[in-house]
Amino acid sequence: MAESKRDYYEVLGVDKGADESTIKKAYRQLAKKYHPDMNPGDAEAEKKFKEVAEAYAVLSDPQKRAQYDQFGHAAFEQGGGGAGGFGGFDFGGDMGDIFGDIFGDLFGGGARTRRANNGPMKGANIRARVRITFEEAVFGCEKQIELNLKDECTTCHGTGAKPGTSPQTCPKCGGKGQVVFTQQSLFGTVRNVQTCADCEGSGKIVKEKCPNCHGTGYTSSRKKIAVTIPAGIDGGQSIRIREKGEPGVNGGPRGDLLVEVDVQRHPIFQRQDMNIFSTTPITFAQAALGGDIRINTVDGDVIYNVKPGTQTDTKVRLKGKGVPSLRNKSVRGDHYVTLVVQVPTKLSEEAKSALRKFDAAADNSLGLNLDEEKAQDKPKEKPKEKPKKKGFMDKLKETFEDNN
Ligand SMILES: [Zn+2]
Ligand SMILES: [Zn+2]
Repeated sequence: MAESKRDYYEVLGVDKGADESTIKKAYRQLAKKYHPDMNPGDAEAEKKFKEVAEAYAVLSDPQKRAQYDQFGHAAFEQGGGGAGGFGGFDFGGDMGDIFGDIFGDLFGGGARTRRANNGPMKGANIRARVRITFEEAVFGCEKQIELNLKDECTTCHGTGAKPGTSPQTCPKCGGKGQVVFTQQSLFGTVRNVQTCADCEGSGKIVKEKCPNCHGTGYTSSRKKIAVTIPAGIDGGQSIRIREKGEPGVNGGPRGDLLVEVDVQRHPIFQRQDMNIFSTTPITFAQAALGGDIRINTVDGDVIYNVKPGTQTDTKVRLKGKGVPSLRNKSVRGDHYVTLVVQVPTKLSEEAKSALRKFDAAADNSLGLNLDEEKAQDKPKEKPKEKPKKKGFMDKLKETFEDNN
């Protein structure tokens, strides 16, 4: 029925010489105007809408447009002479299928978005943080957090409209909540999906606002929520509390509350996954002679027997004194302790004299050469009075002392 068809340029209301962007702009305006969602049950609008879409499908394609300019509608008729035909445009079928592409282009999500906006939707998740101690992270704890939670307004039941009125479909986005801008660039068509500014993504515009919620559809109140923090949680991990997020839309469930755990630094312990690390000072005598020392763990102090002759930086593993597994509390990591031999900085005369005696005895019995490395470290407390040869390190040390 080529004869009954309106000219495509006329359908879009543009000149024959209109450029691409003019055609696109005209199409978008008309597509919105005649969109079935905007005109439910209006057969005339639906017809117009199809007509507009068909015109745009041809005029937006340079090749098809050229053929249309040359042969008119005949170019696209079944078996038509024109340019060999394209198999025609049969718009008699299911609208959803046919307009899927075009609406994909115009509205970003096409049919899917439309359905989702009308059906029940889960509310958005919200995030909160809770600060806990190192030990609370290791053993788990119960915390209470306070936050502002939205609830559906009981006056308007979430519509945001004054009782007795109802919200209207947003004309800017046609109720989609988002607008797609297409731009031609060197690399082809670029589509930008943006939340509709007029309705802020709701797809609806409230003319007369509900006095209780000021048109938002929600009321907000301070709520206390109990959070069970499992043993073994680590900083940066989150606990999901189901359905404590934003209210759902159209009867959908609430979103979730995600509570991120922030673990305080511990003055002694450090943690890596399930293991705990710390350092414990031991005296020189403990290191040399061995003996029991107290080591701080998350389970309290434990007594550890230091072997005689323990060197500084010796690492000790306390099995099962680490962090429990998040999945299985009874499985625990280990606690690694670095034993650090302390060199005393303040000594009584008695202690000094004892050390000198020790040094002399050690020199003889253990064969340690105190002239070498040790003497360099503590030249002033060096027990022996014989003049020492100045090595490179001595000179270097002197240089540093002078400068300080
Ligand atoms: Zn309300
Ligand atoms: Zn809108």
